[in-house]
This record gives sequence, structure tokens and C-alpha cells, in this order.
Amino acid sequence: MDFDVIVVGAGAAGLSAAAELQDLGLNVLVLEARDQIGGRMDTDYQFAPHPIERGAEFVHGENVVTWELIRKLGLHALPAFQNDEYYYIDAAGQFLPLPQASRTSGGGTLKFISTRSGVCELAKNWANSGKPDTDLDSLLAAGGVHLDSRFYSIVRHSFEGLDAAGLRQLGVYGLMETSYEGDGDSDFRISEGYSSLVYHLGQQASILVNTPVESVKWTPSEVRLAMTTGLTLQAQKAIITVPLTQLQPGKIRFDPPLPQDKLNAITRLGAGHIVKLVLRFHESFWPAKMECFATDKHTGFWWRPGWGRSDEIPVLTAYAGAGLADRLVKFGHDAAIQIALEDLTQLFGNRVRTTYADGMVLNWQAESYIEMAYSYCPVGAAGLRAVLSRPVGGVLFFAGEATSVKRSATVHGAIESGRRVAEEVRAKL
Ligand SMILES: Cc1cc2nc3c(=O)[nH]c(=O)nc-3n(C[C@H](O)[C@H](O)[C@H](O)COP(=O)(O)OP(=O)(O)OC[C@H]3O[C@@H](n4cnc5c(N)ncnc54)[C@H](O)[C@@H]3O)c2cc1C
Repeated sequence: MDFDVIVVGAGAAGLSAAAELQDLGLNVLVLEARDQIGGRMDTDYQFAPHPIERGAEFVHGENVVTWELIRKLGLHALPAFQNDEYYYIDAAGQFLPLPQASRTSGGGTLKFISTRSGVCELAKNWANSGKPDTDLDSLLAAGGVHLDSRFYSIVRHSFEGLDAAGLRQLGVYGLMETSYEGDGDSDFRISEGYSSLVYHLGQQASILVNTPVESVKWTPSEVRLAMTTGLTLQAQKAIITVPLTQLQPGKIRFDPPLPQDKLNAITRLGAGHIVKLVLRFHESFWPAKMECFATDKHTGFWWRPGWGRSDEIPVLTAYAGAGLADRLVKFGHDAAIQIALEDLTQLFGNRVRTTYADGMVLNWQAESYIEMAYSYCPVGAAGLRAVLSRPVGGVLFFAGEATSVKRSATVHGAIESGRRVAEEVRAKL
């Protein structure tokens, strides 16, 4: 046998699983298809003097497992989105801090943007009364929530960004399942960039990059993995942590095929879309206290990636999900930048164009071996994350953000899934 355990995928889940198993003294190898580790955690250190996150940017919550690593590795974190006064709303021709915008919208409707509690409350009532699963758009309508039409698109963009799916795609029961309970309400950025966490996490591991796994042949006693490079390897157990899109038929070939309930979960869970547009300017043109803003235009939600840093330069990131992301992708790189500049020009005037320096369009659907942003739970798909996470035949084990029932779509959910799967493997060796 070449290895005790082979881990497929060197993202947060795969690297966490490998670290746990190596600590137990096992012979572990990680296989990564891309030329770098980290997967959807990928920091750019060239675009600005401070890190720019191409993928995951925030640590969502003051209590999540990521903090354990931040502290252990000696990294630092900066708070984000702490003050509603710094959060602006661009809707119906007005540009106001969130508290004032909430007052003009008839009071309270904008709570759907800064907190999900209103929708979660409705969802809980819906489930408690035993009603069948439905989408969030129908839930809001049935709950008698009449969002001021001027602010409806802001709320829609907010969900599309957070969940990488539209209100009509997201299921009520899935929303309740993924509760993020106990994570905490505050957001942070890792000052050194998410990739430095990846680097430390992967430092002790044996990893082969540029090694896409093509097929997984398994029996009750061993797994044989064949790579597109021609390499074949054998292990007692394999841990599969690839994104949901890469589990879909036609990507990695399993022999015998995965069970029908697993295939059903793979096809019915949703693979969400996100586009990030990162624009650099020679000078800033926004209010000094503006940290972020939500717009009813074409680009969704904007923030300053250098917020709170002494080395911040004028950079803005636009975060567009689902329908907005698809539209931007359809137009192509240059047109997407022009659309973003036009949204900003309408808001801040012509100096936007004269001070524009450079831009990046980060489309995660186009990233090879990933092809998605993060998973979501459509109507009727609650319970399928648990099915996705189940081991097969005592030799194949599954981790990754999409397998995290309570904390999917996050780095900390992926880390936890890696630790969970390591424990499952340990129990079987
Ligand atoms: C734009 C964006 C913004 C985000 N923002 C946040 C955020 O602010 N906070 C947060 O907590 N989370 C955020 N996330 C989500 C977070 O990045 C993911 O949940 C997490 O990184 C997923 O980790 P993973 O290990 O499950 O998967 P991945 O990181 O995708 O790792 C899987 C690995 O498997 C590899 N692979 C695929 N196919 C093969 C194959 N055939 N052979 C070998 N290797 C293969 C891939 O290349 C990849 O490296 C964001 C994601 C995106 C895309």
C-alpha cells in the first residue's frame, strides 16, 4: 500500500483533514489538481500593497474554528462591517448611511440586509406550522412582508451575494438547516491574507500539485487513484474534498459508481455563482467614513478591501452573486469593468473614470477544477448535505464546504468538515 490515506483537494477541508491525520502518525498524501494549494482561498499580493482576496475574504464570526488557527499560527485579524453608520445604501437615487436609509424606507425593512433574523423568523414559523418547503421569495410574500419596492432589489442583491443564489432558488428548510448557530455576528479579515493561513496549514503536509485525479477505483479494502498525469496510487482510504461541481458525473470517474442517494445529493444541491470586481484608483472619491455600500444598480455590494489598514490604497471590490454575477460574466471582462465604472460614475461623478487605474474580474465559475463559488440548498434539498457527507463502502470519505450541514459556504465550515472526516477515517483504520 502506497499510503494510509490519500486526500483529494488541497483547500481548507483537505488540508485540515491531512493535518489531523498526520498528527496521528499516519502516512498521508494530498493530491491537488491546480498549480497551487488553497482552492477557494486565494490571496493576490500584487494588485495593491495590501492583500486582495480573490476568493474567501472574511472570517464570519468571532467564535468560529478559524480563530484557533489564526492564534496558533500567529496571524492577525482586522474587524469589518462593525458600524452601520459606515454602511451606505444607494437606492432610488439616494446615497445614505444604513440607519438613515432605514428610516426613509418606512423603518425596519432594511434589517433584511444587515441581519437575516427577519427572514429566519419567518422561516421558523413556516416550518413550525408544518408547511412544505418553498422558496424565499414566496416565503416573504406569504409572510406579508411588503418590502418597499425601492429597496427590494437591495434585499435581493444581498441574498444573492451572501448565498450565491437568488431568492427564488433558495429553500426555506435549507436556510434553517444552515443556521451558523454560535458562530457570532462579527466579521474579520486576516491581515496577512487568507493564503497565509493556507500556507501554514499546508506546511507540514505531503502535497502533489498539478495532479488532477481522473478516476477512483475502490474495493472494501483499498482505493486506487489514477491521475491525468498517468500516475496511479493506492491507499487504504481516500478523502474526497473537491467542490460540488467536480463531483458531478463526467468529472472524476468512480468505479464502482457512487450510490444513487449520493448522486442525487450531488445533482440536487446548488452550485452558486459569485463574481468579484476589484478596481484600483489613483485617488479615492468616496466619503472617508464609507466602508461599504449596497446598490440597486448592476453590481450588488461594494467594500474597501483595505478598510482599517494603515497601508490602504484606493481600491473597491464589488461582490455580485447569482443573477447579477451571470449578467456580468455574459458581457465579458472589459464590459463588466465598464458596467462597474458606470455604476460608480452615476453615484460619484466623472472623477471615477479619470482616476481609474486598473481592474480585475474574478469569476469563480471559470476557475478550473472549481467552477463555482459556494453551495446552496434549493427547495426540497434540505437533508442532502448530510447524505453528501456520508462515507461509501468504508473506504471513501467526503468533506468540503458543501458537506457542512450547519456551516456550508464558509472557510470555517470547510475546516470543520476536514476535522470531522479525519475522525471518521481514524475510527475505521
Ligand atoms: C468569491 C468567494 C468568496 C467567498 N467568501 C468567503 C468569505 O468571505 N468567508 C468564508 O468563510 N468563506 C467564503 N467563501 C467560501 C470558502 O472559500 C469556501 O467555503 C472554502 O474555501 C471551501 O473549501 P473546500 O476545501 O471545501 O473547497 P476548495 O477550496 O474548493 O478546495 C477543493 C480543492 O479540490 C481541488 N480539486 C478539484 N478537482 C480535483 C481533482 N480532480 N483532483 C485533485 N484536486 C481537485 C480544487 O482545485 C481545490 O483546490 C468564498 C468563496 C468564494 C468563491
